[in-house]
Amino acid sequence: MFIDVSSLKKSYISGAVVNEVLKEIGMELDEGEIGVILGPSGSGKSTLMNIIGGIDRGDSGRVIVDGVEINNLNNDQLTDYRREQIGFVFQFYNLVPNLTVGENIEVVSNISKSPLNVDEVLAAVQMQDKKHRFPRELSGGEQQRVSIARAIVKNPKLLLCDEPTGALDYQTSRSILKLLQQVNKKYGTTILMITHNAAIAAMANRIFKLRNGEIVEAALNQATVPAERIEW
Ligand code: ADP
Ligand code: MG
Repeated sequence: MFIDVSSLKKSYISGAVVNEVLKEIGMELDEGEIGVILGPSGSGKSTLMNIIGGIDRGDSGRVIVDGVEINNLNNDQLTDYRREQIGFVFQFYNLVPNLTVGENIEVVSNISKSPLNVDEVLAAVQMQDKKHRFPRELSGGEQQRVSIARAIVKNPKLLLCDEPTGALDYQTSRSILKLLQQVNKKYGTTILMITHNAAIAAMANRIFKLRNGEIVEAALNQATVPAERIEW
């Protein structure tokens, strides 16, 4: 298994109150698959994804990604893991406003080690003609395309997308989901995506339903649907 999480726990403590955000989480994803974490707001989706991506740490349990136990890495090793192997896409794009599209992609570390380059990933997201534009000159969907290009330019082992269409309209959402499927096919990138939209889960190979910090259902989807055919 490419991602192998078991008995993962995470709590946040504030004063005397313990908020158990993840309770004995177990989940698996194979290399090259698309996984979707589905759940309502506050169920622990982002916390789980952030631990898998090395942004945060679990309290106990195992989190193995491509054979490496993330919880055993020291802080420097965890930073290297996150920077070299993980691509992140967030709901609000997080582009640097005073850098051009090309510069936003270029400032990513480890680009020199990657077989990909800025022009190639811009073409992959159909944004090659916007290389010298600034984020404020782009629509939301275009900014998300750039953030996907930025995430994939280092050729990450794993692409983590936290509600990538959460701020986009219906048609733009479908085009972004289609793009993520294309990236998965073209580069073989394993993708784990968070959504609270059950319809979107149809494009995933595996679907994990999260409720109150627990996986209440883990389903293998044998009949994945092309993103452009998903309706909601
Ligand atoms: P989701 O992404 O499913 O909306 P989150 O993982 O963001 O859920 O949050 C799950 C719970 O953990 C929420 O109750 C939230 O308030 C709490 N939480 C998340 N991050 C922190 C933090 N850094 N400190 C304290 N509590 C947090
Ligand atoms: Mg979240």
